[in-house]
Amino acid sequence: MSESATAAPPERIPHWIDGSPFDPVDARLGPVYDPALGVRTASVVFATPGHVDRAVAAATRAFPAWRDLSMARRQVVLFRFRELLNDRKDELAAIITGQHGKVLSDALGEIARGQEVLEFALGFPEILKGAFSRNVSSGVDVHSFREPVGVTAVISPFNFPAMVPMWFFPVALAAGNTVVLKPSEKDPSAAMWLAALLTEAGLPDGVFNVVHGDKTAVDALLEHPDVASVSFVGSTPIASYIYEAAARAGKRVQALGGAKNHMLVLPDADLDLVADAAVNAGFGSAGERCMAVSVVVAVEPVADTLVAKITERMAGLRTGDGRRGCDMGPLVTREHRDKVASFIDLAHRDGAVVVVDGRSVVPDGVPGGFWLGPTLIDRVPSTSKVYTEEIFGPVLSVVRVASYEEGVDLINSGAFGNGTAIFTNDGGAARRFQNEVQVGMIGVNVPIPVPVAYHSFGGWKASAFGDTKAYGTQGFHFFTREKAVTTRWPGPDHGGIDLGFPSTG
Ligand code: NAD
Repeated sequence: MSESATAAPPERIPHWIDGSPFDPVDARLGPVYDPALGVRTASVVFATPGHVDRAVAAATRAFPAWRDLSMARRQVVLFRFRELLNDRKDELAAIITGQHGKVLSDALGEIARGQEVLEFALGFPEILKGAFSRNVSSGVDVHSFREPVGVTAVISPFNFPAMVPMWFFPVALAAGNTVVLKPSEKDPSAAMWLAALLTEAGLPDGVFNVVHGDKTAVDALLEHPDVASVSFVGSTPIASYIYEAAARAGKRVQALGGAKNHMLVLPDADLDLVADAAVNAGFGSAGERCMAVSVVVAVEPVADTLVAKITERMAGLRTGDGRRGCDMGPLVTREHRDKVASFIDLAHRDGAVVVVDGRSVVPDGVPGGFWLGPTLIDRVPSTSKVYTEEIFGPVLSVVRVASYEEGVDLINSGAFGNGTAIFTNDGGAARRFQNEVQVGMIGVNVPIPVPVAYHSFGGWKASAFGDTKAYGTQGFHFFTREKAVTTRWPGPDHGGIDLGFPSTG
């Protein structure tokens, strides 16, 4: 049966503006699929600049009252949101699996990591306390405090439809800002669910808004004079564009980009631990994670043994519908699945050895799903696009090197610097690696070193543009501006005229 032959018209996914759904009749529409079924299940409305303006206007109107609400009251709303989310996270996980394709347990995992940022952000009165210095000069005190920046835009990717927005909006809201979120058009319903839940938790209308769409919506946010800051997560070319365009428009901007994460395996490592870690980190969420391990760098003589151990484990993985308790789901769209699969042909052409070819997978799901099984490619030349480009799918490459030094040089010569890991039992080597590797997030015998919420998240080089990372104290810095106040209460004997530059004394 063809897609168009499905009887019911697909559900329409509207924007969320000023506390309610907003469904413009004349909107362009984008397709939303259930990747495990391979069918279009919904149409998402795409915003025009006018629709974006409507959302920004709502956020601008709501800002003064939300900014001036007492911290205690802001905390009550966010705490209630945390409780509702915790009670109803299964609903959100089902939405994520139905549009992204990741297995349900993994969808719950992403919600848990988002919730962790929310829980961190709930402690905002401590973080926003400011500083006070008494008597910096005779009878003069200085104090500083931080204020919200205003209307903040968040533009997020398809691969974490709940977690990535939650890296930003709990911190932005806690600090007293209002938010316009532009989620990925591929899986937009998680954002809508979160918006409705925030309203249910008592968030005033207009404080959190969602607009859907493509470049037109994003550009309208970038150019809007009332948008104070832009937080972006997505592929490197778009991140670079966003960074430049937002900066040119005078906005504060943080733009997190793509990745190619290496796992360096030293000969003394526990190879069973390494093989488990490589499989978990390479194929979890079908490799659609910015912190996925995509390259195993094996320092000889361990490569043959390691490839055998990884292959053995891959044979036990079940690819299929994420609602059926499988290990790995489909890819997000057919187009993305085909692009990822094309790298397997390229590997053959470039002289690599395709040890496991995911195109021959037999999925636990219907034939039309966007399936690609776990794939292992050995002896990948470092000049091949299989090595240099971000694949963003269940394709794990192995590169063989002769020494630790050769491995570190390889990692440092790459364009990206998001995450990396070293596997070894040698503490000295691990310490040296931390100092020598040019990457923002490092694991020692930990394959996906995503920092917890009270540390901040962000890569180096082409993996992040802008100097402020996501969440943690850096997140609060991004979403606030500091004021410093110098105070004197002079007595009747104040000193008269003195044109000198004020100094201490
Ligand atoms: P993407 O760059 O295609 O899209 C990201 C966002 O940008 C979406 O909201 C999309 O609608 C918008 N967009 C797309 N094209 C645009 C254009 N021409 N102009 C303006 N906006 C545009 O990324 P994706 O495919 O949704 O997500 C996967 C990518 O995100 C991968 O590269 C992955 O590494 C990266 N990612 C990075 C991190 C990180 O923390 N560094 C985290 C998650 C994902």
